[in-house]
Amino acid sequence: MINQLISSAENKIKLAENKNLLDVSAIRRHFLFPERGRIVTNNAASTQPPKELLNLYTDLSKDYENVHRGQSNASRYITNLFEESYNIITKFINAPDRRNIVITRNTTEAINTVMYSLLTQFRDGDNIVTTFMEHNSNYVPWYGLCKEILPKFGIKVECRLARFQPQTGELDLTHLKSLVDSRTKIICCIGASNFLGTKIHLHLVKEIADYSGYLQPNGECRSLLLVDGAQLIPGTFTDFHTLNVDYLCFSFHKMLAPFGIGVLCAKQHLLETSLPFLYGGDMIAEGDVSPDYVGYNSLPWKYAAGTPNILGTIISAQALRLLLDLALNPDEQKYFLTTNEFNIQTVEGAMNRISSHIKMLTEKAMYILSRIKGITIYGPKNVNRRTGLISFNVAGCNPFEIAEELNKAGVESRAGCHCATLAHKYLKLDPPASCRLSFYFYNTIDEAEFAAETVNKIVNSKNRIDISLNTNENTLNNGLTK
Ligand code: PMP
Repeated sequence: MINQLISSAENKIKLAENKNLLDVSAIRRHFLFPERGRIVTNNAASTQPPKELLNLYTDLSKDYENVHRGQSNASRYITNLFEESYNIITKFINAPDRRNIVITRNTTEAINTVMYSLLTQFRDGDNIVTTFMEHNSNYVPWYGLCKEILPKFGIKVECRLARFQPQTGELDLTHLKSLVDSRTKIICCIGASNFLGTKIHLHLVKEIADYSGYLQPNGECRSLLLVDGAQLIPGTFTDFHTLNVDYLCFSFHKMLAPFGIGVLCAKQHLLETSLPFLYGGDMIAEGDVSPDYVGYNSLPWKYAAGTPNILGTIISAQALRLLLDLALNPDEQKYFLTTNEFNIQTVEGAMNRISSHIKMLTEKAMYILSRIKGITIYGPKNVNRRTGLISFNVAGCNPFEIAEELNKAGVESRAGCHCATLAHKYLKLDPPASCRLSFYFYNTIDEAEFAAETVNKIVNSKNRIDISLNTNENTLNNGLTK
């Protein structure tokens, strides 16, 4: 009897837990890659697009027209969808208003937008603080500004790099703090590392920025904070309002949408007072161009010069609606292509389910990988501190060869420095490379297991070959010396 009670209580707990589990088989029916038998575990580079988003290109093409540039029904229809996309993105990341949103090509362009819009604000003797954990997209623009652009105008600005703990993959906040002073105009920091997987304690970085004492042009006394959210936002609930950062950048091709659209979400007063990044059509106030004066359009259009990637923007915003459906109920289209409202709690619920699933996959793969002799897994040991990627090296194995062998077994991975060149060099990796598996919420636990087990097999068979080669060499040598 007691046993029966226990088991029924256990079942109840299991059922309750199951409610929070993603329906991965149903989710996978929305994608083409399973039909190919692909094991897609290179999601930190780009995720796969659901069929609905690809079909949307064709559907939208029936009313194919430019935006803000015509009086036809088609132009009005597409303009409405395009403008509504800004609202969807705004809601998804809990920004105050669509005036906070700048649509770019990708994260890289979003960061460059910040760099160029602030270009003329830097004063001689200022500094920029970033970290050794950055993707090149959040280091090279600041390097270029400090080493190439500003010196041409006689302005010296230093670019400082905060260290991370090689063992734990955690950002060294004490070191970061020591680099920040009253001349730090901006701190540029990754949200989550695309190599170590570490999620940064952004509220602590924000605190450091807030107490720097830098005098900004509007009288505020603090450093600005830019967060590169490319690896954070696709799998972790991210709320712009609560984070309270100045700039948040990300790319849609890492969260279901096809390639081509990124976002800069910025505080409105910064976009209002900064210079535009690109100059040209549509970013000017209607009729306000004369030989001596150009008036800019209101936000968000001040940062939308030229014909934008219209279909890409609409489809990317719909990707967010579809992501909610897939996470909450993949058999129902409650949000995709509807006007149904969603609030930040809906997004939080969906993203938390996605995070839990990714965590489970990462934990499983890390467990198997960690038993491989000679392996180094980079970044935090605790999956709660990580995103869904695992970078590793195995002593005596070339990471590129592992990736090639994985590919032969049908497992897609990435070897290289993943554009985290500074971090690979900081760890003195030679070559500056690692092999990386990265999961998304359409991956199954079997796939995570298979990918990690395949690494195990590759390493074991390489070790066997090495041993037999050594044995043969010894036999040969012995033969020769005799
Ligand atoms: N930052 C991070 C952390 C990334 O992982 C990436 C993409 N690998 C980028 C920036 C650059 O993104 P994109 O190529 O979309 O500009």
